[in-house]
Amino acid sequence: MKKRIFAALLALIVCLSTVTGCQKKLEPVKVESTTFAMDTIMSFTAYSWDERETRHLLDRLTDDLNALDKLLSVTREDSGLSRVNQSNGRPVKLEEYPGLVTPLYLALHLCEVTGGALDITAYPAVKAWGFTTGEHRVPETDELAELAKQIDYTAVSLEGDVVTLPAGMEIDLGAVAKGFAGDWLAEQARGAGVASALLDLGQSTIVAVGTKPGGSPWRIGIRDPAAEAGYFAVVELADMAMGTSGGYQRYFEQDGVTYWHILDPDTAAPARSGLASVTVVAPSAMDCDGLSTALFVMGLEEGAQFWRDHPELKFEAIFVTEDGKIYRTAGLEGSFSLAEGYEDREVTVLE
Ligand code: ADP
Ligand code: MG
Repeated sequence: MKKRIFAALLALIVCLSTVTGCQKKLEPVKVESTTFAMDTIMSFTAYSWDERETRHLLDRLTDDLNALDKLLSVTREDSGLSRVNQSNGRPVKLEEYPGLVTPLYLALHLCEVTGGALDITAYPAVKAWGFTTGEHRVPETDELAELAKQIDYTAVSLEGDVVTLPAGMEIDLGAVAKGFAGDWLAEQARGAGVASALLDLGQSTIVAVGTKPGGSPWRIGIRDPAAEAGYFAVVELADMAMGTSGGYQRYFEQDGVTYWHILDPDTAAPARSGLASVTVVAPSAMDCDGLSTALFVMGLEEGAQFWRDHPELKFEAIFVTEDGKIYRTAGLEGSFSLAEGYEDREVTVLE
């Protein structure tokens, strides 16, 4: 009797292992990598049939990312951008840094489209508040007025590969660099034949390449700006990018007031538009990154109007106000849902 039970069990185990063995062969392999770049932790996940080749690709993407960081970083003394910032009013020919031309051009274009709500010349103000060093301080009113006068992306000239920046001004691509990198990496991944990958560039910039292996969209949570952790909503993405800007991402407190790292170019002080976070969903990660920062500066009313006025940008947005109200644009119908525990929250649809 015992022998028979044993034989049956053995047969069952053999059977099961054959079945799971078969299933394994049908599933693509998940390949992951994590790296620290652009001041944040980034993680890439790709699904493939060829693990070695994909591992190789992810290593290459990490190298590309470090190369981009070396071009775009405002804090690295040896970066291409620092070279521009140290030019003291002289024209700089970017022949040594050809990779800097496109992101600069795209960033200036976004400044223009957003009417200067995004302004890449805010760097002296960002420094004055101590956001680059962590030695935070609240500048005096006079100092802020002086700083605000100097924030003006229209004073930057970019002709061909020659950039000229007035003395005293400095460019910071911090609001768009992760997005630019996301688009770049996604292009590399698609070019290498990857049909399913998620590129998480940290601090809420994400690019979905294709869909999940089974064909369903990626489901990405949006952080609740009022909570320590956790997300209030989920957006479904397929071949799409998403970016969030929020006051909770980088800030300090002094005398009971919170000061965050997104500045209003008009005042050189933290943007107080009544918003706690803005999430943008769009085909381009750079647009997501730049527009989320700009919409945070604009606030809900102006931001919603900007969305209506710019269908060519093909973006959708989710706004959370400081008093916890949620607004989303109409185009997210079917791909936006409230997360578990937030189902009873009201969502106003912007048309
Ligand atoms: P994060 O990098 O935390 O995702 P953002 O994409 O919103 O956040 O970018 C914020 C960064 O951009 C700041 O740390 C600062 O360096 C810079 N910045 C702040 N305000 C502006 C602005 N109005 N326009 C352009 N850049 C800005
Ligand atoms: Mg941004």
